[in-house]
Amino acid sequence: MLELSSNVAALQPSATMAISTRAKELIAEGKDVVDLCVGEPDFPTPGFISEAGIQAIRDGKTRYTPAAGIPQLKAAIAADIQRLSAGSIEADAGGVVVSAGAKQALFNVIFSLFGPGDRVLIPVPYWTTYPELVQLARADPVFVEGDPQRSFKVTTDDLDRAAGGDRVSGLMINSPSNPSGAVYSREELEEIARWAADRRVWLVSDEIYRRIYFGGQLAPGIFDLPPEILERAVLIDGASKAFAMTGWRLGFSYTSRELASKITALQSQTTSNATSLTQWAALAAYQRTEVADVEVERMRAAFKRRKNLLVEQFQAHLPEVPFVEPEGAFYFWVGIRGLARDGEGSMELCERLLGEAGVALVPGAAFGDDDFFRISYAYPEDTLRDAVQRLAASRK
Ligand code: PLP
Repeated sequence: MLELSSNVAALQPSATMAISTRAKELIAEGKDVVDLCVGEPDFPTPGFISEAGIQAIRDGKTRYTPAAGIPQLKAAIAADIQRLSAGSIEADAGGVVVSAGAKQALFNVIFSLFGPGDRVLIPVPYWTTYPELVQLARADPVFVEGDPQRSFKVTTDDLDRAAGGDRVSGLMINSPSNPSGAVYSREELEEIARWAADRRVWLVSDEIYRRIYFGGQLAPGIFDLPPEILERAVLIDGASKAFAMTGWRLGFSYTSRELASKITALQSQTTSNATSLTQWAALAAYQRTEVADVEVERMRAAFKRRKNLLVEQFQAHLPEVPFVEPEGAFYFWVGIRGLARDGEGSMELCERLLGEAGVALVPGAAFGDDDFFRISYAYPEDTLRDAVQRLAASRK
C-alpha cells in the first residue's frame, strides 16, 4: 500500500471530472452519450484575445513574469473591478494577484487565511472544491444549510445557527452559484458582509460567474457594498467563464496589499507566475473592455436562452421533477424526486441514467446534497432538448 502523507490522505479527486471522464470513455467506446457534466463555456475564446496570445508568442514574451502577474494586467484588472463596481472602491493594482485559474487563487487565499483550528462556513450546495481546499489547509469546513424556498441562499440566521455560538474564521460565498445558479441580491449580500465584518470573519466571495447573470448584465458583487464592511473581504474572479478561457488558466484574487503580498509569497514558492502568454491574452480581455463586453453579452444571451429552454422543457416533459430556476451561471440544480427509484441516491441515479439513458450528470452528493443532481447547460440547444427527452423516457 502506498503510504501517503496526512496532507492528502483524505483528498478526493474532482467529482465533476470523474464522471465526465467516464462519459468520455463511453463515447470513445462508441456509446451514444450526452455529456452534461462539464462546467465550461462551449464557445471559443474570442478571437481578439487569442490573437493577443499568439502575438505574445511572436514577440517572445515567453519568460518568467513577476509572481503576482505583469503590472499591465494587474492594473487592467484593478480598473475593471472599479468599472464594474457600484461602490466607492478605488481599486489598487497592488491588491491583485494573478494565478493559474480561479482555483489556484482560491487555494492561495484559503491556505493563507485558514489553518488548524479555523472553522470556515460553506453554504450548501457548494462548489466541490471549497471543502477540499479548506481541509488541505487543515481547517474545518462547517456546512450551512439554506432554505430550498430561497434557492438555498443562506441568511444571517442560517449562518448563526451553523456557527453555533463558536468562533468562525471564514465564510465562502459563491454568487451566481455553481451548482444552484442562485444569485444573492445586493441587499442579501450586504447583510451577509455586515454579519462577517461584525464578527471579524474573512469573507471570500467567488464571483467567477458574475458576468453570466439573467437579471441584468452583472450580478451584484461585494465591491458594490460600502468599503467599511470589506476590510476582511477577498474577491475571487477570473477569465475562465467570462471570456471562455478555461484552458488558458487565468484567475485572480483581489484584497488588501498586505494579504496580497503573503499570497504572492505563497505563489512564488509553489507555481510562480500564471503562464506569461495567458497573461498577455487576458490583458486584451481586461483592457479592451468595449470589445470584450460585446462578446460577453453574446455568450450571456445564449446562456439565458438555454436556461429558458431547459425551464420550458422540464415543465413540459418532467413536471413532477423539482428544480431551482437559475438566475445566473450555467447550471441547473434538479431534484432527484420524480426520477429516482426506491433506495436510489444521487450517485446511483446518475450512474443508472448514464448507463440506461446515456445522459451524464453530476450527482448532487458531490456538492453536499444527495437529493439533487447538476446539469450543465453550456451545450447547444438541441443537445439540451435531447437530454430532457432521454430523462423523460427513462421514467418508463
Ligand atoms: N469557482 C467556481 C464556483 C467554479 O465553478 C470554478 C470552475 O468550475 C472555479 C472557481 C474555477 O475556475 P478556474 O477554471 O478559473 O480555475
